[in-house]
Amino acid sequence: MATHKHELKHRVCEAIDAQRQRIIDLGQTILKNPEVGFKERQTAKLVADTFRELSLQPQEGLALTGVKAVARGRAAGPTVAVMGELDALINYEFPFANPETGAAHCCGHNAQIASMLGAAMGLFRAGALTHLAGNVAFVAVPAEEFIEIEYRLNLRRQGKIEFLGGKQELIRVGAFDDIDMAMITHSAPVQDGVKMGIGGTGLSFVAKHIQYVGKTAHAALAPHEAVNALNAAMVGLMAIHAQRETFREDENVRIHPIITRGGDVVNAVPDDVTIETYVRASTTDALLSANEKVDRALKAGAMALGAQVCIKNVPGYLPILNDPQLAALFKANGVSLVGEEAFTGPWDKIEGVSGDIGDVGHIMPALISFYPGWKGQAHTSGYVIEDEEIAYILPAKALAMTVVDLLWEDAETASNLLDSYVPLMTKEEYLTFLRTLFEESVFP
Ligand SMILES: [Zn+2]
Ligand SMILES: [Zn+2]
Repeated sequence: MATHKHELKHRVCEAIDAQRQRIIDLGQTILKNPEVGFKERQTAKLVADTFRELSLQPQEGLALTGVKAVARGRAAGPTVAVMGELDALINYEFPFANPETGAAHCCGHNAQIASMLGAAMGLFRAGALTHLAGNVAFVAVPAEEFIEIEYRLNLRRQGKIEFLGGKQELIRVGAFDDIDMAMITHSAPVQDGVKMGIGGTGLSFVAKHIQYVGKTAHAALAPHEAVNALNAAMVGLMAIHAQRETFREDENVRIHPIITRGGDVVNAVPDDVTIETYVRASTTDALLSANEKVDRALKAGAMALGAQVCIKNVPGYLPILNDPQLAALFKANGVSLVGEEAFTGPWDKIEGVSGDIGDVGHIMPALISFYPGWKGQAHTSGYVIEDEEIAYILPAKALAMTVVDLLWEDAETASNLLDSYVPLMTKEEYLTFLRTLFEESVFP
């Protein structure tokens, strides 16, 4: 008797339920063994070993620590990626932090990996691949959190990475070349009655390191012989603030500089002052335009005082774009699991969040869904799982069910989706764009 699509989905969900404790244990193991970006060696090994148990042949060491395994369907067709992020943050107060490194899963990425593996287990144990065309790529991605910038710039200088985010690097090294669309999940704080959802868009950003160099002298005896780098920096900051009236409301520009070095002793004129800031905006055009204004403003400070300014720009992430067709398919599955009232979104609003799923979404259809199973606020020490069903099991089911929809029989749904999809950028355009953001300039 022929299997129907909804029967297959049901079998996949049963298989996930049968692996429930194993999925939760994997998530808890990762929670208790956190590693930060581009250093996730043990976590990557756990993922690769779990792939091997499913008779998958993982590629390891992609973008240093990434792992990818491709499961083939019964015929050729599009490839759908199911992703999870390997990396932790740093938070020494977090209950499961590594006491030496401070690595801590206070963004819930441990659950992403567990549910990605859970989706793989469900699809395999239910024999789903024999009813699907195309491929499923399971990808464990390094370094989503944009942290340890100096460390990563060092890796860049050593030629080990070019970009500072894991998905950016995976795109660069070609790990997405055989992937047509991608899905990922993310943790979220508990919301009244909500078990699953799809958010809105986020902001793109450029990270900036700015150094003003002047000339020191005794602050009272010979200030006329000095070039005050702090005054140059202050003029630069004021010139940034003077730009704010030019930013349009719907561009959501955010510029939030801090002075990280403002002088060493009060009785000598500061000759070395550093500033760090992000420039964020909701579109890449707005980002580029605001970034150019900021650079102009910073140079004005140097010019006014006769100092020198060195500006280093590091590309952050592009705005999150949830593909509407992927979102609709996913939502139908989510609603079938949790009910209409416990599913929220997709939202039509901009959130303050950024993530490198935004970068993926500029070159192929992509979707990030969220799961409010966590107590407390993300990135803080109180961010712990309250509901294991929401955190681990529901995402595994919703991801696997959406894969079934996309690749069912001849993968007609995925093929149709791709036929009507126009990417905002090609891979090459994307890489070129990032490279133009990665710049260092000295003025004058
Ligand atoms: Zn985070
Ligand atoms: Zn996160």
